[in-house]
Amino acid sequence: MTKYVYSFGEGRADGDISLRDLLGGKGANLAEMSAIGLPVPPGFTLTTAVCREFYDGGGSYPEELSEQFSTALQSLERQMDKGFGDPSNPLLVSVRSGAPSSMPGMMDTVLNIGLNDQTIQGIINQSGDPRFAYDSYRRFIQMYANVVMGLDGDIFEKLLVEKKRCKGVEQDNQLSAEDLKLLAEEFKNSYQQALGSQFPEDPHQQLWGAVSAVFGSWMNQRAVTYRRLNNIPSHWGTAVNVQAMVFGNMGNDCATGVAFTRDPSTGENYFFGEYLVNAQGEDVVAGIRTPQPLNKAKYKDDDLPAMEDVLPGCYRQLVEIRNTLENHYREMQDIEFTIENGKLYMLQTRTGKRTAHAAIRIAVEMVSDNLISEREAVLRVKPEQLEQLLHPSIDPAAEKNIIAKGLPASPGACSGKVVFNADEAEEMNRLKHRVILVRVETSPDDIHGMNAAQGILTARGGMTSHAAVVARGMGKCCVAGCSDLKIDYEKQLLITKSGHTIRRGDIITLDGSAGEVMLGDMPKVQASVSGDFGTLMNWADKYRIMKVRSNADTPHDARVSREFGAEGIGLCRTEHMFFEGDRIQAVREMILSADLAGRQKALQKIMPMQKGDFIGLFREMKGLPVTIRLLDPPLHEFLPQSDNDIADLAHAAGIAFSKVKERVEELHEFNPMLGHRGCRLGITYPEVYDMQVRAIMEAACELVKNEGYEIAPEIMIPLVAHVSELKVLRKNAVRVVEQVLADYAVTVNYQIGTMIELPRAALMADQIAMQADFFSFGTNDLTQTTYGLSRDDAGGFLPSYIDSGIFADDPFVKLDQEGVGQLVKIAADKGRQTIPGLKVGICGEHGGEPSSVAFCHRIGLDYVSCSPYRVPIARLAAAHAALQDE
Ligand code: PEP
Ligand code: MG
Repeated sequence: MTKYVYSFGEGRADGDISLRDLLGGKGANLAEMSAIGLPVPPGFTLTTAVCREFYDGGGSYPEELSEQFSTALQSLERQMDKGFGDPSNPLLVSVRSGAPSSMPGMMDTVLNIGLNDQTIQGIINQSGDPRFAYDSYRRFIQMYANVVMGLDGDIFEKLLVEKKRCKGVEQDNQLSAEDLKLLAEEFKNSYQQALGSQFPEDPHQQLWGAVSAVFGSWMNQRAVTYRRLNNIPSHWGTAVNVQAMVFGNMGNDCATGVAFTRDPSTGENYFFGEYLVNAQGEDVVAGIRTPQPLNKAKYKDDDLPAMEDVLPGCYRQLVEIRNTLENHYREMQDIEFTIENGKLYMLQTRTGKRTAHAAIRIAVEMVSDNLISEREAVLRVKPEQLEQLLHPSIDPAAEKNIIAKGLPASPGACSGKVVFNADEAEEMNRLKHRVILVRVETSPDDIHGMNAAQGILTARGGMTSHAAVVARGMGKCCVAGCSDLKIDYEKQLLITKSGHTIRRGDIITLDGSAGEVMLGDMPKVQASVSGDFGTLMNWADKYRIMKVRSNADTPHDARVSREFGAEGIGLCRTEHMFFEGDRIQAVREMILSADLAGRQKALQKIMPMQKGDFIGLFREMKGLPVTIRLLDPPLHEFLPQSDNDIADLAHAAGIAFSKVKERVEELHEFNPMLGHRGCRLGITYPEVYDMQVRAIMEAACELVKNEGYEIAPEIMIPLVAHVSELKVLRKNAVRVVEQVLADYAVTVNYQIGTMIELPRAALMADQIAMQADFFSFGTNDLTQTTYGLSRDDAGGFLPSYIDSGIFADDPFVKLDQEGVGQLVKIAADKGRQTIPGLKVGICGEHGGEPSSVAFCHRIGLDYVSCSPYRVPIARLAAAHAALQDE
């Protein structure tokens, strides 16, 4: 018989953390905490298998579930010594989702299940507090109506406002027990009017309604979006936890809080958290009341009293639990707790989300504390997370015009136009505007806008508010709880305490590390790999096998990539050099020349500039390998398009306008990406490649001869389809190289290799290897030509393919390992059949994408090459791949 229900409670549990896939993160951790003796309110978990069968069966449950459920509920009643639905001694329960991978706030929760007109009397007797009882009751009716029946909360909010108006009070907590009792009645009447049925009084009906709603919330829009953004498969399903209620809102010896065992923003090893006296769990995260600090470690003057002072006994117990959890899990934990009449209960523990900065510091410090090994530390930091650290920060030399201060909720610096709602953020982002999403507070419904924005600014909420937690998870800069702001959604503006008015579309800058809001677009500086980051990267380098190079075309990019740890240049796209300054003029003259003599004359002008470029690159790379690709793009990319530009060119070159126009039209191609480009240019205009090879070799020889450099240039021929193309071009290149070497009378270890970026080249790689000293996979073109999908035009429809799940990912971002990857593997294997040990790398955009880097490791490539700022990501991804192999 399949076990669908797992119980847990103080001191014992059916499951443990190893059953995470089945019990979900929350359920597995509740079981684990129970088993190690932490105070957990007892309950039981319905497994993810129930969820899967619920969806497969069109909303019906597996047959055995009902009996197992009743048995677990009865056992819960015995443990709590209460009866579910018993009017004199009622048990109330919560129903919460819990997926195998954390999806904070994305799915539903129902609290206080079991309340009705009879059991409320029992709650009044138990708590001795009718006000608390009726307040719980009216909240329950609203929550049930909203979550289970899909009724908009507005109708209840209006009744609440009306009640306060009638009573002449401002705050909810000024309403009396009698007011709340009447309000609960009014809520039930509204429920019946809106839904045409009575509010269910039967606790079992309530419970099953809540369970089905929570399973149902697995497929709500925000959960679907969150899964898509976080690569969580939808077939996993969620578990559902039914747990005895404990109350943090039964008086002043009650409280509720959330905490991290270390600071999730900086990683500092101190107990970081927030709590509220006399409150329900959601109050802390929702940012409705300003939470108070747990302790005085980082006390600020205007902080409210810390739990350390207000509830010292519970605080000491919580500190012990913190230490137990860190030693047990050997990982930073994010915990939720509730104190009911002075007794502490743990409601949740899970691996805490953290900024990249914190992830690194925690991993490095846990190695020093002998909690984890270097290898584990390397695996603890996700390569994609590093992107956050490689983002710029505000230039310390810049003068800051700070207009407001809030909490430094998620680090980094960003600038953009202010928008006040998530849909607009998404739309503006689509139109290529950088935006800052400004909200009073965010909710899970804002997730798409947060994703589209550069950064997030909220007026309310603490370091554990929705905005802060989600922004950190996304690696976005966020300033939260900025109470200096008054936000007016209607007028689409915000006013700061200092008197500034910022309207929709105005540009501001956020510093998420300092919690500052500034006017305008502040200058920023690049990150560097130092401190703990440097330590972790050194460990990564120790364990990785593949080398990491960069795609760099200029000395500046070369310097940046060396600083980020590149071990060479894997791709220098020489065409970018052709666009610089007034060179384009000479390039155009060359293309337009009717004969060889004309082309050579123009090439003479370009040659010294190219040579200068290569000298600059070689100097920066100080002896590391540099792969230089000969001219690749279609010629028409260099040509003037408008009549005005054509006229300018005709004038400068001293050629008639009509002639130039005629030549431009002659060069026009319908399908330039498959046209006169790559090595085909070298075949038809050999003088162009000759000039480039000469420039490369003269630059190398001069540095070798005059400055004692060791230089190993790698000359790379693009877009080869047939070995004959490479044979001709290699021969031409060798001729020029040997001539230059003889002229300078030096020896230089050069290589001539090719890109593999067409399916035919991949399939014929054994033949091509006969003419190549190395292969480099151009997976941008290889993806384009394997899919028959234009790199330049696919943006128009590819997103809808991904949204509808036809493609799991954009194949231009993540290497399609099954299809395109198969060609890569075939080519690498075939090349090495011809030349054992042939050097093989990748220089398409995929070279900096972690899952593609792991694939390259698995098929035995020697190196990956990626844009400079992704070099650390690739280094760490290569280390992960190697360690996972072990
Ligand atoms: C490629 O095709 O993958 C490549 C690196 O070359 P480019 O992007 O310049 O076409
Ligand atoms: Mg290419």
